[in-house]
Amino acid sequence: MPSEFDLIGRYFTRPAPGAVLGVGDDAAILRPTPDTELVVSTDMLVEGTHFLPGADPEDLGWKTLAVNVSDLAAMGARPRWALLALALPAAEEAWIAAFARGLFACADRFGIDLIGGDTTRGPRNLCVTIGGEVPAGKALRRSGARPGDDIWVSGRPGLAALGLALLQGRARLATDWQAGCLAALQRPQPRVDLGLALRDLASAAIDVSDGLLADLGHILEQSAVSAVLEFERLPDAALAACPDRALAQNCLLAGGDDYELLFTAPPARRAAIASLVAHGPALSRIGAIGAARPGSLRVLDTAGREMTIECKGYDHFPSTRGIADAQ
Ligand code: ADP
Ligand code: MG
Repeated sequence: MPSEFDLIGRYFTRPAPGAVLGVGDDAAILRPTPDTELVVSTDMLVEGTHFLPGADPEDLGWKTLAVNVSDLAAMGARPRWALLALALPAAEEAWIAAFARGLFACADRFGIDLIGGDTTRGPRNLCVTIGGEVPAGKALRRSGARPGDDIWVSGRPGLAALGLALLQGRARLATDWQAGCLAALQRPQPRVDLGLALRDLASAAIDVSDGLLADLGHILEQSAVSAVLEFERLPDAALAACPDRALAQNCLLAGGDDYELLFTAPPARRAAIASLVAHGPALSRIGAIGAARPGSLRVLDTAGREMTIECKGYDHFPSTRGIADAQ
């Protein structure tokens, strides 16, 4: 049975060229780039809450880091360093090796050094703390949306929630969409380049982790503004993928785990934003920010009538539900 230190040495110790000192001492040492601000965030994945028992460890390795990278993308920051705190029920080497492969695949993709962490026995819990940089004063925040701004979303929100519904036997999906929905759930692609490009274009940004409406709600609250979305402008991939329209609509508006960027920008920036699709994901202009009744969020159908939305997104605490019984 390998010791904790064997496991760290074998699976989580790699050169960290972007740090002064990486894994192996009591702490890592970092040298931030001059004139940048440090941007840090942490996110954990808990078995039974964020992933199903038996989930593929390599996918989990990717996703554990990717969900953190996504938070930095939403700030317009460049990710650089990560720490990994792992609780595992046992020293299962094959599981750990596959997890490390997925984690380092994501780290390599985004140029991140793993610089430390903690490894302990316990119910499976995967926690990353990520650090990155942004030129001083340039970070995107949730609080910058202004009346008159457009609302945009990247990619194809809803597919990850459909992937989960498929795995749980709650959804039938069109055959040619199944792989895409599972990939959206298991291998989310954080929008780092988009976040960097939006530094000079967006007024506010958030990544869609809890559902499109819920996350837009956070922008509205922090910016003290309201919003109107036009349903037919939303990316229709979820509706195409799933014949059950009510479920597809719920996944599109309230499904979590997409890790797309939702952002606002003045209409004068439309052409510049539209030109970003040449080098990145699709971008859809889905509505507008208003001033009246701060916090209010309305979704209009094709006839301009307000739609009634049942579920506005994922919240861990109203009922202490987990992934096994969510949505
Ligand atoms: P300490 O007892 O001083 O907290 P540890 O024995 O927990 O140190 O860890 C030894 C070294 O290994 C530290 O540099 C720590 O950051 C690193 N480390 C521990 N677990 C992990 C992990 N899962 N991934 C990356 N680095 C880790
Ligand atoms: Mg120590």
